[in-house]
Amino acid sequence: MIIMKNYEFSDFKISFELKQAIERMGFEKPTDIQSLAIPVALDGKDVLAQAQTGTGKTVAFGIPILNKLFIDDRSPQAVIICPTRELAIQIAKELKRLGQYIDGLKVLPVYGGQPIGRQIRVLKKGVHVVVGTPGRIIDHINKGTLDLIGVETVVLDEADEMLDMGFRDDIEKILEFTPKERQTLMFSATFPKEIKSLAGDYLINPKHLKVSKKELTVSNVEQYYYEAREKQKLDTLTTVMSVYDLRKVLVFCNTKRRVDKLSRDLKSKGYDVGGIHGDLKQETRDQLMAQFRRGKLNILVATDVAARGIDIVDIEAVFNYDLPHDKEDYVHRIGRTGRAGRTGYAFTFVAGKEIYRLRDIEEFAKTEIKKQKVPSFKQIDKIKNNLILNNVIYTIEHDNINNEVPIIEDLIKEGYNPIDIAAALLKLQKNR
Ligand code: AMP
Repeated sequence: MIIMKNYEFSDFKISFELKQAIERMGFEKPTDIQSLAIPVALDGKDVLAQAQTGTGKTVAFGIPILNKLFIDDRSPQAVIICPTRELAIQIAKELKRLGQYIDGLKVLPVYGGQPIGRQIRVLKKGVHVVVGTPGRIIDHINKGTLDLIGVETVVLDEADEMLDMGFRDDIEKILEFTPKERQTLMFSATFPKEIKSLAGDYLINPKHLKVSKKELTVSNVEQYYYEAREKQKLDTLTTVMSVYDLRKVLVFCNTKRRVDKLSRDLKSKGYDVGGIHGDLKQETRDQLMAQFRRGKLNILVATDVAARGIDIVDIEAVFNYDLPHDKEDYVHRIGRTGRAGRTGYAFTFVAGKEIYRLRDIEEFAKTEIKKQKVPSFKQIDKIKNNLILNNVIYTIEHDNINNEVPIIEDLIKEGYNPIDIAAALLKLQKNR
């Protein structure tokens, strides 16, 4: 049983080039699976890890792989086997970002559907890391264009998917072509019997890693999610703020760079917004926090780390602009609203397959996150009218309007129609 420690990236014994890239990518803290897997993998041990896409697993195996590469040797030292072409491309891209400061690093995705000749030409020139689908890797082995003799690390990514797709024989064949003393890292979202048997046959004393946390629950917070791709997120955020007439909201992004970008985008749309993350001086953070508390800023954009100390009772809503990597972060984030007995809102944006992670979060937090559609222009108008008219009715019934009545009466005496006057006031209020 491994006790999870909350690591910082600076705790890992890794090269300066990798640390620099992590900084550049804007990562503020390792995700759970990174905290678990990186120290064990850096130690050279085999790993059997339970992790889904979106939890940061590419970096979890990418760091140990890139950290031990010998760049002068331009033959494959790591091979990553994954189920689909899309995943192969995505992993290769992420590894290139992670290795952006490693001079001469070559990462190549190989998959069916792309002319094999092009892949062969690149392989001939020398490649350090190969990311591929099982079938295409076998093709290269058979053609003699991929030599796995110098491979030190093998990653089986989304192992359960690969077995479901009938790739077991191919995977075994590839493993047989790699040296016995290799390090093997296996990632899988689920652990059916076949996965255990594959691990039993090919991994040596693997550390079984799984993120396990005590359960947390949330109350007092109405939780909704919107389907929004990256391009739609900004508009969705501003629309939801306008519909719910929100004046004090906390927006979470997953990286420091995304906090900076979103703050800039909102500022250029005219919002009073501040962005906080770990790169800012404590003094600056405190200032922004104070402005937010006093209502001078309507929106505070933050990373999880920067938001740790926030204790402001009247935050009306929390937005998960990015779905958090770790379930526990979701609970921490939305716990920032609905304080002191008030009701708060939590709005989460999800795109594509992220919905599966959202379902996991629901289960973990024992809560319901309801789907909501971004309202159309017409619907927004209707919602706003209703909000204003409800306030009007409340004011007529509960407030003192004796000073205002004679002013309206004067207007009517001048010949203006009462309905026109009310409609104009509604319009002005809406445009405010
Ligand atoms: P993956 O599970 O590997 O598909 O990663 C999902 C996304 O999380 C990718 O866009 C990564 O760039 C991003 N990511 C990985 N590690 C971190 C981290 N420590 N902090 C913030 N984002 C991360």
